[in-house]
Amino acid sequence: MIKRTIGAVAGMCGGTLLNDKHADRTIVGITTDSRRVQPGQLFIPIIGGNFDGHAFGAKVLEDGAAALLWQSDHPVGEALANAPLILVDDTLAALQQLAAAYREELNLRVIGITGSNGKTTTKDMVASVLSGFFRVHKTEGNLNNHIGLPLTVLQLDETVEVVVLEMGMSGFGEIELLTGIGQPDIAIITNIGDAHMLQLGSREGIAKAKLEIASGLRAGGLLLINGDEPLLRSGIQDLKIDRAIDIQTFGLQEGSDWTAINLEGDALSASFDVEQDDQLSQLKLPVPGHHNVSNALAAIGAAKRLGVPAAQIRAGFNGLRLTGMRIEPLRAYNGAMLLNDAYNANPTAVRAAVDLVAQLTGYRRRWIVLGDMKELGPQEVQLHEEIGRYITPAKAEAVVTFGSLSEHTASAAQTQFKKDGTDASAHSANQAEDAAVKAFQNKNELIEWLRAKVAPEDLVLVKGSRSMRMEEIIHALQRV
Ligand code: ATP
Ligand code: MG
Repeated sequence: MIKRTIGAVAGMCGGTLLNDKHADRTIVGITTDSRRVQPGQLFIPIIGGNFDGHAFGAKVLEDGAAALLWQSDHPVGEALANAPLILVDDTLAALQQLAAAYREELNLRVIGITGSNGKTTTKDMVASVLSGFFRVHKTEGNLNNHIGLPLTVLQLDETVEVVVLEMGMSGFGEIELLTGIGQPDIAIITNIGDAHMLQLGSREGIAKAKLEIASGLRAGGLLLINGDEPLLRSGIQDLKIDRAIDIQTFGLQEGSDWTAINLEGDALSASFDVEQDDQLSQLKLPVPGHHNVSNALAAIGAAKRLGVPAAQIRAGFNGLRLTGMRIEPLRAYNGAMLLNDAYNANPTAVRAAVDLVAQLTGYRRRWIVLGDMKELGPQEVQLHEEIGRYITPAKAEAVVTFGSLSEHTASAAQTQFKKDGTDASAHSANQAEDAAVKAFQNKNELIEWLRAKVAPEDLVLVKGSRSMRMEEIIHALQRV
């Protein structure tokens, strides 16, 4: 974590020390959370919707904070008049400026990752394949925004050789800000989806917003984009960057710099060969799905750029552990295979999940349990219907939905299932009766119904937006 004198910190964040006598004291680490101040830390009060961190100035000093940033439009008051305060115009901007300055002082490589889906997954993969070769630090959990990213940078110490930073966004300009702080040597765009359509207007808008990551790329850096996405391929033509950078593509279709062949997999894993590198054959991921092979190709592009040997890449994938609820394989109380993908959902991610289920054969019945996809804007009904149409009886034998938007998924799926009714009834009379689409508004009813229906030889994938808390269904299916 950052360790600098208070005077140095003031210079780095463009602030002014209120009392010079504190200039030579050292701060070790920073926090924005007044409840978690550790002795010696720099406290940065953030002004949020409900709280203003400045209210806790006296308290954090009592708890041992070595210094505080202080937004100059806030009165200092007598209690703090002699305290080690660094006055700044805006504490949030100062946090970001401090992180950017600290990053420049550190002698390490930065990998920045953005995209509509797969950022956290790709971050975990990159960190895993690099960690046998470098001292690696990565964004914890999902701390990928204008506060989490600078905090992640300020956690680094001089021994870290590579940091993997997740960069999230919900509108234009946000990735530009984050890449400006992180100044990556390698920037990855995992894919373009439909998330944040509301703020960005169109998929073109989303592509443009993701491509902002290139603006912070260091001279001689590498931009790695998903070559299966035409909007990214065309978007790179319009990039206005005044530095020389390299661009590479990865993807599942032909024509990218990094592609996979001989894909195989089941509910627990995927394996593939990298077409461009003989040493990278029969790589095995302990996570399923073609979309994860795509994420892995991005990680391979980054690892190769940094000179990681094939054996380390292979070992890194073997030892991969993803952050929870990303297609996490679990067992139901009766032994049925559960895929907990309840972390979040949007149309691209749901289609990837449906594709995965479609590839998984050998189960008595495959259930897709979907909750509402939120924040899709005016097209939300249509987007749910499209998902319903995407699920055919050939891909899954049963669709169960939860929530009012998902009723549209269910009714569109119903039409598909009716259309293909002959297919569904072909298996057996018994199965045809159950080969159904069912919509629920009450989660407990859904759970009770599902528990009664799911057999030990079945597969159940559960997915929905975060606020739908679809993992409760998984937990209920696990309960003995
Ligand atoms: P967030 O924006 O919430 O931080 P994220 O981009 O970090 O999300 P992950 O957490 O890695 O994404 O994955 C979330 C879900 O997205 C996964 O469970 C999976 O369903 C889906 N997903 C992951 N990678 C891809 C991909 N390359 N293409 C499509 N869907 C993907
Ligand atoms: Mg994430």
